[in-house]
Amino acid sequence: MDVQEKIKKLRKEIELYSYCYYVEDNPKIEDYEYDALFRELQKLESEHPELITPDSPTQRVGGISEKFEPVAHKNRLYSLDNANNDEELSKWYERVLKDTTGLEGQLNLFSPKIPLACEYKIDGLAVSLTYVNGVFTQGLTRGDGVIGEDITNNLKTIKAIPLKLFEPVNVEVRGEVYMPVSSFEKLNAKQLEAGQKTFANPRNAAAGTVRQLDPKITASRDLSIFVYGGIFDKNQAPKTHSETMAKLAKLGFRTNKVTVVEGIEEAINFCKKTDEVRHTLNYATDGVVIKVDEISKQLELGFTSRVPKWAIAFKFPPEEVWTELESLEFSVGRTGIITPVANLKPVLLAGSTVSRASLYNFDEIQRLNVQVGDRALVKKAAEIIPKVIRVEKTKNSKPFEMPKTCPCCSTPLVEVEGEVALYCPNKSGCSAQIKGRIEYFVSKNAMDIDGLGESIISQLVERKLVYSYADLYKLKYEQLLKLDLIAEKSAQNLLDAINASKNTKLPKFINALGIRLVGKESADILSQNFENIEALKNASIEDLNAIDGIGEKMAQSIYDYFHNEENLKTLNEVLSLGLKLENTYRREEDLKLKGLSFVLTGTLEEFSRDKAQEILKSLGAKTPNSVSKNTDYVIAGANAGSKLTKAQNLGIKIINENEFKELINYKEDL
Ligand code: NAD
Repeated sequence: MDVQEKIKKLRKEIELYSYCYYVEDNPKIEDYEYDALFRELQKLESEHPELITPDSPTQRVGGISEKFEPVAHKNRLYSLDNANNDEELSKWYERVLKDTTGLEGQLNLFSPKIPLACEYKIDGLAVSLTYVNGVFTQGLTRGDGVIGEDITNNLKTIKAIPLKLFEPVNVEVRGEVYMPVSSFEKLNAKQLEAGQKTFANPRNAAAGTVRQLDPKITASRDLSIFVYGGIFDKNQAPKTHSETMAKLAKLGFRTNKVTVVEGIEEAINFCKKTDEVRHTLNYATDGVVIKVDEISKQLELGFTSRVPKWAIAFKFPPEEVWTELESLEFSVGRTGIITPVANLKPVLLAGSTVSRASLYNFDEIQRLNVQVGDRALVKKAAEIIPKVIRVEKTKNSKPFEMPKTCPCCSTPLVEVEGEVALYCPNKSGCSAQIKGRIEYFVSKNAMDIDGLGESIISQLVERKLVYSYADLYKLKYEQLLKLDLIAEKSAQNLLDAINASKNTKLPKFINALGIRLVGKESADILSQNFENIEALKNASIEDLNAIDGIGEKMAQSIYDYFHNEENLKTLNEVLSLGLKLENTYRREEDLKLKGLSFVLTGTLEEFSRDKAQEILKSLGAKTPNSVSKNTDYVIAGANAGSKLTKAQNLGIKIINENEFKELINYKEDL
């Protein structure tokens, strides 16, 4: 297909999706998918400017229906250019500097910092409201920017829109009509009950409601507005956007907070902070709008046919995206269990490109009914690896074959009893398992050995220098020097780090063993209940089962681990090499925070989050990651996020770092 045809095809597609979105309030694809098509068209047109036509979607705004009377706007309405990342925001700022100060080139320390007004980007429907002598006379949708739809009667039913202002001024304001998230949820529940179609999101619900032919329906649903701009008569016009907003608020309009920052770096910080709190708001925001604050500079910068050059919308990265599931791969981890991994058509998700997603296990594959060739909805999970949460069949979907042999050592796979899971039984010969176990052994929450990364571990295992974790403590300087990419200094550093890890804490070591089902939390519980590794080794099934927090399956797994000859041999070997395990947990009567639950948020000055949690746990406290009504204390450090807001709403006691130190009787040498 030549470029011209490609452009034509893209325009046709975009026009169709725009029609469904703007005119019918019935989007057919996700916003990020639409944005990707739009950007592709913009890119092709910028490479071939001779092919740009005035009717291209890149040169126009929105669309209008024939449902309402069309009315010409007195002042044209625009869309906004958008940026997906810091780099694109900086590029926009560079252009602003060039056009207002003549300074060209990349930003640096000395680049001027001009005032920028930052506001939440409300995800609703743009409207223009005209006031004559302080009286609301006309309300229009944005339409195509030149002509809007007259929806005055519907807008009059929105209580947050003043019908009369506090002063008799002439002004045309722009704002976003939206539906509060709580009202949207109630409306959808009602629609469902009445057997009617539900709305895809609050934006959709707001747009569908405000463009009803019968104002009674609009009135019956809860809509609100945030006004974000106004055009006054010349002699009354303020000098900055932020002053305009203050003036609009004084006249009786509902405005949102405007934060004026100096330069793009601070604006980028504002975007990051907003991303952290946006889910706590009762309205949908899809980004941050950054505007040059000074009106004289705005006038200097002007507009393109579609957007102002003095403003930009930073769009939050989508947290869920659809993409194509191209193939399935099977990997084998430290426990020998086979994990299915989906290979995806690369897609941008929450700020980074992903091409693989975890499917956890075969149970999950069955539950989701995954097939190769499906369309897959991928979400950034709490961990870094994204996961597939839903699939849809396509004409290319076809079943996959269950693996029969280990992808690493080709040993025939065995089914795990009572589970839809397969594992490689070649524990001591499968190099993927050995590597996995060593990687886990040296990781931060385990023995925390710095410098032993994936590549070095891989070489140590491939060259048969290491079979078990005990072998790490037998490594010689000369052996390390022979590895690729290891120089004298790093070989010595590595040996020192391995040696230093000989003095460690009991819970860290228990975790490092990689016993199936036992992680950091359970290792803590075990250390609270057994004085030393010897006692744990000799524990009976009954002893283990009696411990609060250790389930039946885990108890069995621990028991089996310490009754396996090879495991015991490695353990004895490492102990004979001088490993010292200190149990930091106090006796029962010393656990002064026993039973209390603490949640940490923000950054503490003197403690890393891990350290603070370790101290709390050593005093018997629990440290879950999220705030609930069962939380006793929230420890709030600098830049605390949504957890703090939630704690405030639930009336949970909030303490600062000093109060935390008092609570734990902190001394510098702790
Ligand atoms: P936009 O929504 O990206 O940004 C412009 C709009 O932001 C303005 O018109 C204004 O109404 C609004 N806004 C909210 N808060 C604001 C504030 N504080 N200050 C200034 N403006 C503020 O642009 P658009 O032209 O309205 O819509 C384009 C977007 O719509 C696309 O990026 C796409 O995500 C979506 N869209 C989706 C589909 C689909 O099929 N899913 C189709 C068409 C458009």
